[in-house]
Amino acid sequence: MKSEFIWINGELIPYKEATIHFLSPALHYGLAAFEGIRCYSTPNGPGVFRLADHLERFVNSGRVLGLQDFPYSLEILRDAVHLTIRANRFNECYIRPLLYMSGGPLGLNMDAHELSVGIATWEWGTYLGEEALEKGTRMMISSYSRLHPNANMTKAKISGNYVNSVLAKTLALRSGFDEAIMLDPDGYVAEGSGENLFVVRKGKIFTPPTASILEGITRDSVLQIAGNLGFEISEERITRDQLYIADEVFVCGTAAEVVAVREIDHRKIGPGKMGPVTREIQQEFFAAVRGENNDYADWIDIVTEAEASLGI
Ligand code: PMP
Repeated sequence: MKSEFIWINGELIPYKEATIHFLSPALHYGLAAFEGIRCYSTPNGPGVFRLADHLERFVNSGRVLGLQDFPYSLEILRDAVHLTIRANRFNECYIRPLLYMSGGPLGLNMDAHELSVGIATWEWGTYLGEEALEKGTRMMISSYSRLHPNANMTKAKISGNYVNSVLAKTLALRSGFDEAIMLDPDGYVAEGSGENLFVVRKGKIFTPPTASILEGITRDSVLQIAGNLGFEISEERITRDQLYIADEVFVCGTAAEVVAVREIDHRKIGPGKMGPVTREIQQEFFAAVRGENNDYADWIDIVTEAEASLGI
């Protein structure tokens, strides 16, 4: 996770100096919101995948949290992301913007807190492992439910909400699986601890509706890619046993990218390896993010010298 600089409140701060105070409300109450974005090496230079959409969700996370005004405009945030990538001289990296309550009296009144915004970047390989991209992963249905929409709210990447994901992921790893699949409070399939989920059955693609999940930007990209490839797609409730009898299951997210699930709860999914539909979508996805398919050129925001040199 190392880099030379982290952008904080308008300035590039050397990595070691990017610290926060013990009494920051963010640390005590999880009062922060984050984004996860990837920048890929493309034929035109480093390109950030769907940056505008990620920044919009970042600002919306602040809105869900109850901020009256986000401290920075979308334009400034975009320039700051470019600047941070360029300052760290990365061609490919993960980008982590964070809004956090950095000061003010410790207490539960958010309106009394001071806000900060930071952006870190680091080189991060495949989240579920290189082997998983080719062979698929093994997952378990978690005994932890996904967030109730009226308790924690599912549309924002609020840091405190991620304790739920951390519990599920850690339990899955300790149980010998790669990742957790979480059910919604009604018992229907929701999503992974950090990925959205798709099912393939008889050539048709299914995915849970957005009500109780994070509206993933990779999910949206997969829906568009699958539509362009001519697949029939249905957003509908999925039960746990529908996963067991699927021909293919795959998950997707910024960190995880597009990964097949070859086993769930000790049951093989289909033949127990990546299926042809997942493979086709995975290939299209990687061509899109790497700027190799012009149909998806609008999704890539090239990190330019001019913008990136602003403010250095
Ligand atoms: N669901 C959850 C709970 C997540 O944390 C993520 C990662 N942001 C996703 C889904 C996938 O979202 P995206 O494709 O926008 O990264």
